[in-house]
Amino acid sequence: MGQEIEGKFRIELDFDLCQGHGVCAGDAPEIFAVAENRLGYAKVKLLDPQPGPELHANLLAAAKYCPNKVIRIVKAEE
Ligand code: SF4
Repeated sequence: MGQEIEGKFRIELDFDLCQGHGVCAGDAPEIFAVAENRLGYAKVKLLDPQPGPELHANLLAAAKYCPNKVIRIVKAEE
C-alpha cells in the first residue's frame, strides 16, 4: 500500500535549484520529466499538477529524494 497525501495540495518547483538529475522522473515518471529549457539547461517539467492518490507515494518519493530539494508539496487551505 502506498502513502497518500490527505486533502488538497499543489506541487511547487524551484527551477533555479533544479539541476536536471532526473531522479524525480525515475521515481514518478507520470508526474515529472526532464527537458531542456529555452536556455538549453535540463530542468524538471511538471506533467501532472494534480496526481491522483495512486501516484502519491511516487510523488512523495520524488520530493524526498530530489538531491536539490526542488519539489515542495504545499497543502492548500480548505
Ligand atoms: S527536480 Fe530534483 S530530481 Fe528532478 S531533475 Fe530537478 S534536481 Fe533533479
